[in-house]
Amino acid sequence: MSSRMTASPQAEKPALKVLLCSPRGFCAGVVRAIDAVERALAVYGPPVYVRHEIVHNRYVVDGLKAKGAVFVEQLDEIPDTDAPVIFSAHGVPRAVPKEAAARNFFALDATCPLVTKVHREAEIHFRRGREIVLIGHAGHPEVIGTMGQLPADAVVLIETLADAAVFTPRDPVKLAYVTQTTLSVDDTAEIVDLLKRRFPAIIGPHKEDICYATQNRQEAVKLVAPRVDAMIVVGAPNSSNSQRLKEVAERAGCTRAVLLQRAGDIDWAIFGALKSVGITAGASAPEILVEQIIDAFAERYTVDVENVSAASEDVFFPLPRPLRDSEAAE
Ligand code: SF4
Repeated sequence: MSSRMTASPQAEKPALKVLLCSPRGFCAGVVRAIDAVERALAVYGPPVYVRHEIVHNRYVVDGLKAKGAVFVEQLDEIPDTDAPVIFSAHGVPRAVPKEAAARNFFALDATCPLVTKVHREAEIHFRRGREIVLIGHAGHPEVIGTMGQLPADAVVLIETLADAAVFTPRDPVKLAYVTQTTLSVDDTAEIVDLLKRRFPAIIGPHKEDICYATQNRQEAVKLVAPRVDAMIVVGAPNSSNSQRLKEVAERAGCTRAVLLQRAGDIDWAIFGALKSVGITAGASAPEILVEQIIDAFAERYTVDVENVSAASEDVFFPLPRPLRDSEAAE
């Protein structure tokens, strides 16, 4: 347990217990993706092109832009160049590396290895003649990337229990499922249970597709949310795992759960009269944003911070190979 006391006059400030979820914030895949861009900038110099936000966080993206990264949504926005072109942690459809190769781009793939694992699973199912159900959210770049590993009719997207209830496979004994890595563990378990009841022969992953970071952050929120008056999830609205953390907090009994991008977004009409608040951060949110939020509370309250840990993490992913090699060469 640690505590953070504010400058005098403390007596005039009400007390606030801050329960800090652990783990929170950056996962190994996000660290690797950001390091890949920074390393590429250091080795090759700017510009370094990045397809899509490298991770879903404006603070991170703006920081990399300031160092010379150029973010694009599609490769056709990039002029002919020798500069590195990096694919984001969410993964890309096969057409993207193909297009990069056709244009002789120096492509560096920062797809998280745990997303690549899902791509490989889907490919194996496809080769074995199975129809594939992908449980995930339409339009999310990871879902677009996973579906884009295979021909258009090979993968069926299921977003909800209602979708699972009406899904009709081509052949119920040649069926498999994979999932997005950043889903709600509990919602996904319900969907998988329903699919297994309806199609007992359906084949799933050997090891959970929802990644360790998503699971651990949700577990920590489940410990904290029932103990606090309000819960803050630091993360971007387009960050799937951050949105799920907010939902998990609500489901765990916290009626005031909000997703915030930065301290300046705190609505003091909601957060101005609390006895306790829980704080976590999505896998793409840097710790400095959490610190700034605690500092904002410390200006109004006498703050006592307690760490609540659901797991310890020591996962590390090495950089994409060309960047690893450049590191070794130094
Ligand atoms: S949230 Fe999970 S799958 Fe996504 S980048 Fe992080 S470790 Fe990889």
